[in-house]
Amino acid sequence: MEEPVIKLENVSLEFAAERHAPPALILSDISLRIAPNDIVALLGPSGCGKSTLIRLMAGLLRPTRGKVFFNGREVEGICPGVAMVFQNFALFPWLTVEGNVCAPLEQYRLAAGEVAGRARRALEMVGLTGYENVYPRELSGGMKQRVGIARALAVNPEVLCMDEPFSALDVLTAESLRNELGRLCADPANPLRTMVSVTHNIEEAVYLAKRIIVLAAHPGRIALDIPNPLPYPRDPGAPEFQKIVEEIHEILTSHELPEAVPGDPSATRQIEPLPRATIGEILGLISICDEKPGDLFDLGDDMGKQFDEMLEAVKAAELLGLVHTPHDHVALTPLGLRIQSSLVAERKAILRAQIDRLGVFTKLREELARTKTLDADALRDRMSEWVPGHKPLDTAHTLISWGRYAGLVEWDSKKQIIRWCGV
Ligand code: ADP
Ligand code: MG
Repeated sequence: MEEPVIKLENVSLEFAAERHAPPALILSDISLRIAPNDIVALLGPSGCGKSTLIRLMAGLLRPTRGKVFFNGREVEGICPGVAMVFQNFALFPWLTVEGNVCAPLEQYRLAAGEVAGRARRALEMVGLTGYENVYPRELSGGMKQRVGIARALAVNPEVLCMDEPFSALDVLTAESLRNELGRLCADPANPLRTMVSVTHNIEEAVYLAKRIIVLAAHPGRIALDIPNPLPYPRDPGAPEFQKIVEEIHEILTSHELPEAVPGDPSATRQIEPLPRATIGEILGLISICDEKPGDLFDLGDDMGKQFDEMLEAVKAAELLGLVHTPHDHVALTPLGLRIQSSLVAERKAILRAQIDRLGVFTKLREELARTKTLDADALRDRMSEWVPGHKPLDTAHTLISWGRYAGLVEWDSKKQIIRWCGV
């Protein structure tokens, strides 16, 4: 077996959300080998730890347990062989394009001619020749990210790590930059052959990667490691391409990624988790579905949302009986149609009835009938008890926001307590 460039051995990572809070397990026991020439995409729901994992690979974070190796040596501190491209570009506004690309080269004590030559080549690779003296503020998002990529390429890294490099860009720009990166992956003259990229976009993963790693959440762990044997250059319109997309899609949307439920699952399973979506997002989804009942992929684009955020809105609308999702289509139920055609007051009444029926609200009603109020800590404890395996703060957040909309609960933000106000 080929010696891996990056190797993770039983890596776990804990973070404390607040200073005195007990640390939470973010990544659990991850073992992973990335071989030279691997092109890997990391896919997974929001918050599952993709950014954390890629930062561990770049040496920007250290594991709580386990070890990270680069070319057989344990990584201590920032890993010089790995370059990182960030979602929000992370450019220095006071430096020109060329200044930004050269900035990380300073630490290498290269001759001036070498620095200029590398910057020139990197800018050429991303199509920015001629923009050397321009400042970031004068550039579009797509051009800024080209600078981000050029800056990473200029250090001649062995591995290029990218954390959702296209997600801050509009759809067309993202597509053209993705195509260029695809060409770069396929070009035998390109010295950079190892890449790890975080994405929430399945098509992007299938377009770029030779290997797709799907992470599951709570705690973050590897759920699947799928090879993608399609030859480059890839054609997203080809049936083989779509087949792989659909397979992964099925996996991500179905319940094939079991949540880690501590304790006895049968005792708690009847309470549905609350997806992290606002009522506004749910109504936005309903109105888009009404205009053109859609494919899940198109919906994300139409809503201007990331795939995982959109998925939360879809799950929420499904939980409330407003949509159903045959295969990868999202269609309005009769109730969803009624909401869409009704006025605000009726809309609110329908939603209120649907929210009131949810298991977690039934529990809360019983609890508050006894205790009258719960403070933030108690509420959080109840959430982790009633909806185990889901982040209690997220559940509490959705519970309060839906409950207030429906007029079922009151949240006193000064005293930080919740009380029941519905009938
Ligand atoms: P993803 O990139 O998959 O959306 P992240 O790696 O950003 O997920 O985050 C995974 C989890 O770790 C989240 O629950 C997030 O709140 C938590 N987290 C990330 N960074 C920190 C940090 N510096 N301190 C505390 N918690 C963090
Ligand atoms: Mg992230």
